[in-house]
Amino acid sequence: MTTENGQNGKKSEGQLLAEKLCINKKNCWEEAGPEEAERIRLFAEDYKAFLDRGKTEREFTAETTALLRTAGFRDIEEIVARKGLEPGDKVYHINRDKSLVFAVLGSRPVSEGVNIVGAHVDSPRIDLKTNPLYEDGDLAFFDTQYYGGIKHYQWTAIPLALHGVIFGSDGKRITVRLGEESGDPVFTITDLLPHLAREQMQKKASEFFVGEDLNILAGSRPFIDEKVKEKVKLNLLKLLNEQYGITEGDFAGAELEFVPAHRARDIGFDRSMIGAYGHDDRSCAYAALRAALETAPIPEKTSVCLFTDKEEIGSMGNTGAQSRLLEDFVAGLIVGSSGADSGKSSDISLRRALNRSSMLSADVNSAYDPNFDSVYDKKNASYFGKGMVLCKYTGSGGKYGGSDANAEFYLTVRSLLDRNKVAWQYGDLGKVDKGGGGTIARYAAALGVEVLDCGIPVLSMHSPFEVISKIDLYTTYRGYMAFLREA
Ligand code: MN
Ligand code: MN
Repeated sequence: MTTENGQNGKKSEGQLLAEKLCINKKNCWEEAGPEEAERIRLFAEDYKAFLDRGKTEREFTAETTALLRTAGFRDIEEIVARKGLEPGDKVYHINRDKSLVFAVLGSRPVSEGVNIVGAHVDSPRIDLKTNPLYEDGDLAFFDTQYYGGIKHYQWTAIPLALHGVIFGSDGKRITVRLGEESGDPVFTITDLLPHLAREQMQKKASEFFVGEDLNILAGSRPFIDEKVKEKVKLNLLKLLNEQYGITEGDFAGAELEFVPAHRARDIGFDRSMIGAYGHDDRSCAYAALRAALETAPIPEKTSVCLFTDKEEIGSMGNTGAQSRLLEDFVAGLIVGSSGADSGKSSDISLRRALNRSSMLSADVNSAYDPNFDSVYDKKNASYFGKGMVLCKYTGSGGKYGGSDANAEFYLTVRSLLDRNKVAWQYGDLGKVDKGGGGTIARYAAALGVEVLDCGIPVLSMHSPFEVISKIDLYTTYRGYMAFLREA
């Protein structure tokens, strides 16, 4: 013990009382020894590589599936058809290549409830319009529609890569991933030079770069033939036809996404942070995935991970959290079980199972940024280096449209984390009436599941280069693992 507290090294009465009664959240780095620091570093290395391979919901789903298969997970229908589900079985269901759910069967029947960690694997980005290609001023562009809540100006004048799928008129599926390898070309959205930006600079940030102006520069070399107009566009179509076998009409219905072309990188002299595209919400998804891979061989309760799509635009559609993906999967677990549940499948057994289930809604939280102090309530904000964030409620304008965890369940989670020595902190989203947001929590809660938002603090959220702390990533992974193992 240090002697800073008095002549004899003893703490004063007030100090002891303060220790007992006041909140004192330490920076986790202070507690991590060299071995722990090395585990944190290695975990971050794995995460960065995974993130670079999974930059879209489809890619992240494919990468997750590959890792699951290596770890012995199999398609649920394959297992059920072969033998029926038993404790210890590892199963997944992939939903239209964009969302997925996977589970490790526990020793207790599914009808007694499951433990779920639910994240989303889509991130803000720039999508193509249905008929995107045009030429203007001897330049060829793609016209776009942005996806999710972005500050438009942040996506200009940076290298962008093109990812996605497009179908030829013959039905052939073409997978595109261009701008990621060092020899690849990239794309960009041009911005106005400061010299001519006097008018632009007077506008509000929401107006000086409007969504309609997010046009992607895609070519400048003409096809040489005096008899055609729009020579640059024609040359581009010629190249696309040679390379991918597509024509202009094939863009209709395609899912092509422009994402930042940069890779995940360490930030800072101390390399304590990671800058990357898509921490929201793939940092939480990855933490959950790793936790699920390392859960007990046969957990008591079945552990489930849910990775959804479309969260950034409201969780709609048959790949979003408002779909029946989770319900259908849990029903499949009940129907497929060969144990106590066998033959007992019914609507009510599914509803009971969901009502007895718990979920950590795994999503990122807005970390306190001293550069924008005015929007944060410092005593209720989350901080880098202080561990996994528990966010009791979301929503905006009086919790409107959010999810509010039950006090009982909050206690369950916080006790579980304390028991497992997992550092956790609070994280309300900014000062009252400064804004707000939501997660997938409310959709699971509507099914009767106990839900609490828990995740990783992030800076520059929804920008092309979001930042997280390595120790928060690692701590959150440990938190999800504790939950999947023993909640
Ligand atoms: Mn999110
Ligand atoms: Mn988001």
